[in-house]
Amino acid sequence: MEKLQNLRGMVDLLPEHTPLWQFIEETARTHFRRSGVNEIRTPLLEPTELFARGIGESTDVVNKEMYSFFDRGDRSCTLRPEGTASIVRAALQHNLLAQGPQRFWYSGPMFRYERPQAGRQRQFHQIGLELHGYSDPRSDVEAISIAWDLLMDLGVKRLALELNTLGSISDRILYRQKLETWLSDHFNELDEDSRARVSSNPLRILDSKIPSTKELLKKAPLLSNELSAESSERFAAVREGLANLGIPFKINPYLVRGLDYYSHTAFEIISDQLGAQSTVCGGGRYDGLVEQLGGHNTPAIGWALGVERLVLLIMQGNIPIKIPSPDFYIINKGKVAEAIALTLARQLRNSGMIVELDCSKSAFSKQFKRADRSNALQAIILGEEEVARNQIRIKNLRTNISNRSLNIEDFLDNSKFSILYC
Ligand code: ATP
Ligand code: MG
Repeated sequence: MEKLQNLRGMVDLLPEHTPLWQFIEETARTHFRRSGVNEIRTPLLEPTELFARGIGESTDVVNKEMYSFFDRGDRSCTLRPEGTASIVRAALQHNLLAQGPQRFWYSGPMFRYERPQAGRQRQFHQIGLELHGYSDPRSDVEAISIAWDLLMDLGVKRLALELNTLGSISDRILYRQKLETWLSDHFNELDEDSRARVSSNPLRILDSKIPSTKELLKKAPLLSNELSAESSERFAAVREGLANLGIPFKINPYLVRGLDYYSHTAFEIISDQLGAQSTVCGGGRYDGLVEQLGGHNTPAIGWALGVERLVLLIMQGNIPIKIPSPDFYIINKGKVAEAIALTLARQLRNSGMIVELDCSKSAFSKQFKRADRSNALQAIILGEEEVARNQIRIKNLRTNISNRSLNIEDFLDNSKFSILYC
């Protein structure tokens, strides 16, 4: 029979990988908790229309990358390609925004039908933040600083924060017209993908990775020249806020989000160690999205970081991850000994210790080898001989201290657990 395989772009995380993932997730959780941000969990499957409206029909994500299908009730469903649209939907559906500003974080798998390569998968994972209801530039600074501090705390080096402003929605409308006219005048010099976007999504062309288009765009009108005084002041406040916190950044006038509901701050955190997939974290302000999905006008800012790319960076940087070792590995053989071992393991675990119980019934020598490999601090040895003497043996696996023997009853007595450690 042919061996069953996972789908292309869907990756297994084996037990050797998950400690690093848990470390990242726990560190993120700590940062969100410290920042008064609450976790939200939304379904992986949503009505397709949510993403068509919430991400935009002219984007690659909606056009080419979604996993959409009809369910048995003939509803068009889509595996979520990102988190923001679902969170806005949930906030509206449960009327959370009526209670004042909301601070959400989320994490989990996202699905996009892309060409798999290092740092790009079809099922990938994001950790993200969304702040709803704040328009003050300090909320932009706060959102960025939470991402920055998390990445610093994870020990990731050589990151660059790139920043831009897209201006207010009305600045954008004016600029879009100007850009569209300029691009139409230079239509023949554009690459094919960009040509298709001139009238549907001209701002997105600014983000093109095609060298000839990048070169051409150096002469295109810049949004920064079209900003209203208010938008310029707002951007200055964001820059000043970041500078005051000592967070280094670089202005990138070509950093854009193509859709009309994005406004003001756009940012990316980039590494020079990830090849073509260089963006670890991307975010920005989306003041028009809540209204676009049927709510009241609500300012909002958010970001999402790609966990696979973060994992690559942490692995490249050889950043040490602390994994708690078992306190005990229980080596046991013989009917009575095995029954006692199970009770023992349970009791020790209930008192908070990490215990690995060998359930193999293999020879002592094999169990000893596994105990060594388990990284446990101590082995508990329980065989027929020990049971006959009503004792267990404890061996320190890290030092040459000789074995100790203890009475089984003493050992099972919670109040005497302190005697377990030499
Ligand atoms: P890219 O230009 O790399 O495709 P994007 O603009 O599509 O990124 P966002 O939608 O802003 O990405 O998602 C935020 C982050 O999620 C990205 O910066 C990246 O770290 C991660 N990400 C996006 N798509 C993938 C993917 N297919 N595989 C792994 N990580 C991804
Ligand atoms: Mg993409």
